[in-house]
Amino acid sequence: MAHSEPARTAARRTRLLASSASSASSASSASSAVRRAFGKAHGAVPDPVTVFDDEIPAVANLDPDLLATLRRAATDAAADGVEFFVNGGWRSPEYQEQLRRAAVSKYGSDKEAARWVSTPDTSAHVAGNAVDIGPSDARAWLSEHGAEYGLCQIYRNEPWHYELRPEAVDDGCPPMYADPSHDPRTRR
Ligand SMILES: [Zn+2]
Repeated sequence: MAHSEPARTAARRTRLLASSASSASSASSASSAVRRAFGKAHGAVPDPVTVFDDEIPAVANLDPDLLATLRRAATDAAADGVEFFVNGGWRSPEYQEQLRRAAVSKYGSDKEAARWVSTPDTSAHVAGNAVDIGPSDARAWLSEHGAEYGLCQIYRNEPWHYELRPEAVDDGCPPMYADPSHDPRTRR
């Protein structure tokens, strides 16, 4: 894969730091038991990994265009002293369903859970088209520079969730949905 060696080295060096600064996503913290039950082969990310971690299915199974773009952005961010970590990426339908069930029990209803976790057949994570990025300085970097790469935050309530919107390079990112339940893709 085309990426600079310095980015990898820096990523390894800061990996320990990142595990203590991982996503504060309430949906994902609710699912720590589910994460342990479902292994990496299903897309679980027990510890944050970098966008260069080819051996992790959550990263390796991302859409190739999204992954290449993330690597380009991460390399440029590293030059600014900012490291990207992946808290979630591709997920198997089985793992996504487990996450959804955990959210339903946490939030008390399908309707409330749908504001945080999509179903397996509508999730952009299952399609390999979404990535959850941390820690907060990486999100701040993406919020400022992501559109230049076509990387866009999609939901206002999920500042960690990014997808590829190539048209954003010219037009800027599209308006965000308040949460996934407002996304027409989740209403199929
Ligand atoms: Zn996400």
